[in-house]
Amino acid sequence: MTAASTSTTTTHCPYCSLQCGMRLTGQRLPTVSAWEEFPVNQGALCRKGWTAAGLYGGRERLTSPLVRDRRTGEWTAVGWDEALDLVASRLREIQAARGKDAVAVFGGGGLTNEKAYSLGKFARVALGTSQIDYNGRWCMSSAASAGIRAFGVDRGLPFPLADVEETEVLVLVGSNLAETMPPAARHLDALRQRGGRVVVIDPRRTATALRADLVVQPVPGTDLALALGVLHLLVAAGAVDEDYLAARTTGWAQVRESVAAWWPERVERVTGVPAEEVRALAGLLGAPKVMVLTARGAEQHSTGTDTVLAWINVTLALGMVGVRGAGYGCLTGQGNGQGGREHGQKADQLPGYRRIDDPAARAHVAGVWGIDPDSLPGPGRSAYEMLDALGTPEGSSALLVLGSNIVVSAPRSTHVTERLEALDLLVVCDLVMSETAAIADVVLPVTQWAEETGTMTNLEGRVVLRQQAVRAPAGVRSDLEVIAALAERLGSPVEFATDPEEVFAELGRASSGGSADYSEITYDRIRDEGGVFWGGERLFAETFAHPDGRARMVAVEHRGAAEQPCADYPVHLTTGRVLAQYQSGAQTRRVRELPDSGAFVEVHPMLAARLGLVDGEPARVTTRRGSMAAPARVVDSIRADTVFVPFHWVGANRLTHDALDPSSRMPEFKVCAARVTAAGGG
Ligand code: SF4
Repeated sequence: MTAASTSTTTTHCPYCSLQCGMRLTGQRLPTVSAWEEFPVNQGALCRKGWTAAGLYGGRERLTSPLVRDRRTGEWTAVGWDEALDLVASRLREIQAARGKDAVAVFGGGGLTNEKAYSLGKFARVALGTSQIDYNGRWCMSSAASAGIRAFGVDRGLPFPLADVEETEVLVLVGSNLAETMPPAARHLDALRQRGGRVVVIDPRRTATALRADLVVQPVPGTDLALALGVLHLLVAAGAVDEDYLAARTTGWAQVRESVAAWWPERVERVTGVPAEEVRALAGLLGAPKVMVLTARGAEQHSTGTDTVLAWINVTLALGMVGVRGAGYGCLTGQGNGQGGREHGQKADQLPGYRRIDDPAARAHVAGVWGIDPDSLPGPGRSAYEMLDALGTPEGSSALLVLGSNIVVSAPRSTHVTERLEALDLLVVCDLVMSETAAIADVVLPVTQWAEETGTMTNLEGRVVLRQQAVRAPAGVRSDLEVIAALAERLGSPVEFATDPEEVFAELGRASSGGSADYSEITYDRIRDEGGVFWGGERLFAETFAHPDGRARMVAVEHRGAAEQPCADYPVHLTTGRVLAQYQSGAQTRRVRELPDSGAFVEVHPMLAARLGLVDGEPARVTTRRGSMAAPARVVDSIRADTVFVPFHWVGANRLTHDALDPSSRMPEFKVCAARVTAAGGG
């Protein structure tokens, strides 16, 4: 359990929201071994976890600050003081010329809680800018928005993941967890061994669908209509729990009215799901315990919040929320997807998941920070809107990026890259020369994962401790040190701690009394207990977080995706992940032990035959925003009107749409209209 020695350290995986426990032994290339006692994964890891130490074998690791000459494109290695002085002086100049909001900050859902907290404080206090948001806006923000509206609080899973094993019917809406978080699939297997049923709703028959009793393949972007149709049938069958609805919810009459006309044949016309399958799905939901889990497939839409609300309505109508082994949850994606949205790196939030426009919240946080509440800026732009405005008269002209590879992961990425290139100053903190770092003016090399200590909050709201296990290479600094050094150079009125445990204690004070309250959590408790749930292990058993204790049922209406197929762009395009890669691939594409397949275009045999596409031969996908070519993969597991491209490589997001959900500001990553041709075609 020691840090930076050759002994064994218990820690957690650098990647996804399961935050699987693991042990690391050794220094330069540590060995990964199982930590069986950690309850989430019980020793199991996916391929990415087993090979995570490969992150330290790469020759591409940056170990010196770099400054790029814009005229020649050449990079020059400089010392830390020179780099930090340069960045601080340019930021000051830009703010002096154009105001505080001329500098923007972009964070990440993979940053530790301490970094997310420090970054939010840095933006509001040291820079005084309202312009801060992060890539988690593109991950689970629709589920977060819906959770707050329905339950008064947003915790991805309001219960331990292992509760999956206790349900009777599990409905996965837009989740391919067998590939994205394979150890979680153990719970599906355990459920099925007990006789439980699994339903998978996804336009693709994925690896997760192999474990399903019922696979429903709707047209991308129509999950909301499917939920309305299911609730219609549950009402018709008298399967709703009227006592629960009367005692624990508000809004049921309006919701019941809103589903009255969603008979199965209408659902079939909208979703492409045969009416009989809709009936079969609704029939399964008459079970004593039903659990619905959504993920990005349901959420990354311009209708994402309403889609999640529609599925929450189903679980509330059945009286399932707050019942052990039942209810609703969101399978968050990024490693700190949950904690990353709680501590103030979101445009509209302060630590503790407080609203930045709430006077009481401002007064509390300002008190902890030792500043005047009136000096705190108000809410800023959401992630895409901030990037879309960069370099324009209304937008910021400098951007500081931590923990994000925007060039690969932003929707409509060619346009976003142009906005980044229009900046007066782009500063990127990263460990490798990512695609975003490659167009920066200054790159600051920072520590990663097991080189540093910090907390993460996994998809269950379980706060875990990633302990330092290896020494960082000479020349790199932690993000916390970079933030503190820049704050000092910018003349911040308050100091920024660099010790993670000290930052965590301050975060606890700042979050105290908020909806995500960490004030009772300490590093010692996390070590002793193997992880600590904020708010308790299970939420909603007795009450919801709204003042009257009741859940809100919200009547929602189906809306089509922002872009529908037409003569020029006749198919649906959807995007997603593959097992061996994580997010923009900036880390996993550099791990030699992980296969790097490159992008591909998944297409149904009927569509392939019609378009003259051959398995393994190049196919070109074109949308109104861009084009990319990759080998075709002809498979019968995808809808015949839909193509799929994984997003871990440059290309997929050149195609995606920037329509935003009106509530969460989530871009519509998961569906747009596309044309597919044999590569070389138009
Ligand atoms: Fe890491 Fe996620 Fe794989 Fe677990 S499932 S080993 S957390 S990538």
